[in-house]
Amino acid sequence: MAKNLILLGLPGAGKGTQADFIVKDYATVHISTGDIFRANLTNNTDLGKKAREYMDAGDLVPDEITNAMVADRLSQADVEKDGFMLDGYPRNEAQAEFLDNYLTENGKSISATLYFKVSDSLLRERLLGRGRADDTPEVIDNRLEVNKKANLPLVDYYDKAGVLNTIDGGRELAEVYHDVRDVLDNL
Ligand code: AMP
Repeated sequence: MAKNLILLGLPGAGKGTQADFIVKDYATVHISTGDIFRANLTNNTDLGKKAREYMDAGDLVPDEITNAMVADRLSQADVEKDGFMLDGYPRNEAQAEFLDNYLTENGKSISATLYFKVSDSLLRERLLGRGRADDTPEVIDNRLEVNKKANLPLVDYYDKAGVLNTIDGGRELAEVYHDVRDVLDNL
């Protein structure tokens, strides 16, 4: 059956890597808002032009732009068939509420939220090692702060909704994925 998943965790927590494993083993469509924004920057689309200044600074792109982009993506046929795995969205409570409304209106629900928990020091180390253009030390520190403030209330939000699964993301990839499978196989 189609699974509707949310991956939670700060930048560098390993969401993207685990997502790559998940799509090989389960039918679900990986939707990374960061990847969609970056593709729009590269292609210099109108959306890319609107998002660029926020992304360059490590700030969140405004919710109305991000929510519209996600709603558009979720309405496509592949998601209808296989469900979705959101990576990098929602990033704050307003986005989570928008998503809930969208899902309710469309007769859908969240199957599980996977929260990859990793210490600050390990996150900083991983992000510095990644070498992406927006991974300079100053931008990394800002990105971690901005995301922490916005993202951690989501852990509570999905805990209250009864769909939260916390996974220790500070271990070897295979160990982390083992726990992911445990959750997904029991849905
Ligand atoms: P990421 O690859 O998830 O770290 O995203 C890269 C950048 O894209 C972020 O620093 C934000 O500027 C933007 N972005 C990605 N997802 C979101 C979101 N859900 N809300 C707002 N901005 C986002």
